Amino acid sequence: MKKTRIVIVGGGFGGINTLKELHKTYHGDTNVEISLVNNTNYFLFTPLLHEVATGGINPGNIVEPIRKVLGCCLKQFVVGEVTRIDTEKQEVHTTHRSLPYDILVLALGSKTVFYGCPGAEEHCYTLKSLDDALALKRRFISQVECAIHEKDEAKRKAMLHFCIIGGGPTGVELAAEAQELFFKTLTSYYPYHKDIISEIRISLIQKGSALLPVLSEKIQQKAFSVLTKKGIDVKLSTGVVGVTKDSVELDSGEKLLTQTPIWVAGVGPQTVAWDKEPELSTRGKILVHPTLQTKSHKNIFVIGDMAHCSITQDGTPLPALAQVAHKEGIAAAKNIHRILSGKKTEPIRYVHSGNLVSLGSWMAAGEIKGRSFSGHLTWWFWRTVYLTKLISWQKKVKVAIDWTVNLLSPRDISHF
Ligand SMILES: Cc1cc2nc3c(=O)[nH]c(=O)nc-3n(C[C@H](O)[C@H](O)[C@H](O)COP(=O)(O)OP(=O)(O)OC[C@H]3O[C@@H](n4cnc5c(N)ncnc54)[C@H](O)[C@@H]3O)c2cc1C
Repeated sequence: MKKTRIVIVGGGFGGINTLKELHKTYHGDTNVEISLVNNTNYFLFTPLLHEVATGGINPGNIVEPIRKVLGCCLKQFVVGEVTRIDTEKQEVHTTHRSLPYDILVLALGSKTVFYGCPGAEEHCYTLKSLDDALALKRRFISQVECAIHEKDEAKRKAMLHFCIIGGGPTGVELAAEAQELFFKTLTSYYPYHKDIISEIRISLIQKGSALLPVLSEKIQQKAFSVLTKKGIDVKLSTGVVGVTKDSVELDSGEKLLTQTPIWVAGVGPQTVAWDKEPELSTRGKILVHPTLQTKSHKNIFVIGDMAHCSITQDGTPLPALAQVAHKEGIAAAKNIHRILSGKKTEPIRYVHSGNLVSLGSWMAAGEIKGRSFSGHLTWWFWRTVYLTKLISWQKKVKVAIDWTVNLLSPRDISHF
């Protein structure tokens, strides 16, 4: 009997949840061969990246080795880059080898986009990968170390100015945690340099008229008031028109002197070369039916940040969120099972679970089923929810330990 070869491309929220769901049905089934390609050997829990960048969590605790997750069901796991998809021959080309497929699941996620802002790509730090988070932490700490020896006040202030561009959830959470790192942790580690610490400045620049544009006005105002009370300089309705190695230029004509511009202002879908380009949305996402199959190939599913999947009359796509990718992964796997059982594929049923944003220690805000809330309890709830979302119990315990230790002592500022 001919084996069915399923290839999953991308081991993030979408890909891993497809694999988990397929494992439930096909574990031990020798008629189905599942392969996965990912450019790292681990799954990355992106929602806690900002805590790695600010010393709150040990980097190893927000990743999970893919072979450990479900190696039992992976006929092949290729740690490498996907270079091309050949729909004619039904093959995925990678840096190591080609993988033939009968069914393909594409889940390569997104990449940072700079909207053509001059100098941004060249000079800005970003926060998409574990390497980005580690580079940012290194930069935060090393700028303070260097500033101690800088006699020129203007240069020192530029060294100590951290400018976050983008007031969505990532920018807001990063700003809040950076404030904790600088003004709680560093004050205790640098008792002889309190003057230097007091010169640190965090700016958060948001093009729109409010922070957290997709959340309710109540939450937006809460985030603004919490961050400004923490001393973060929040600039709303302010666009960035250029970035150089020591400045960020604003559309108001103002020039912010900073050696650390951080770009968290937008993401766009990852791209891959095809023999025949699929149909794309205006934002470059691959258009899929509500069943998550592409418009041109019934045996190709696209999920997560790469997919433009709409289940409403007005055509609005599902948002680029981990919870969407997770549910799309499960839905794609169920449809694969339907195809293999000779049944009709079904549209995804998606109900949004809500949004939660951390605003630093003991403070978070969120919305569930249209109701907004914020405060200490929300913060506790935020932490509990994210703990439950980590894959293994070992990492859940380790993150819980990191958080508990940080409540009792300053964060770890060693950088690698
Ligand atoms: C800092 C940050 C915080 C976030 N916080 C939240 C949050 O709190 N809540 C929420 O819902 N969402 C959050 N998101 C969004 C969430 O991470 C994404 O929506 C989700 O990861 C999308 O899942 P995906 O499977 O499409 O892509 P990903 O999870 O990004 O997985 C894509 C995988 O493909 C791999 N890959 C990429 N290109 C290649 C290639 N050419 N070859 C091989 N492998 C490749 C990547 O390494 C990755 O493992 C956050 C994102 C970031 C960056």
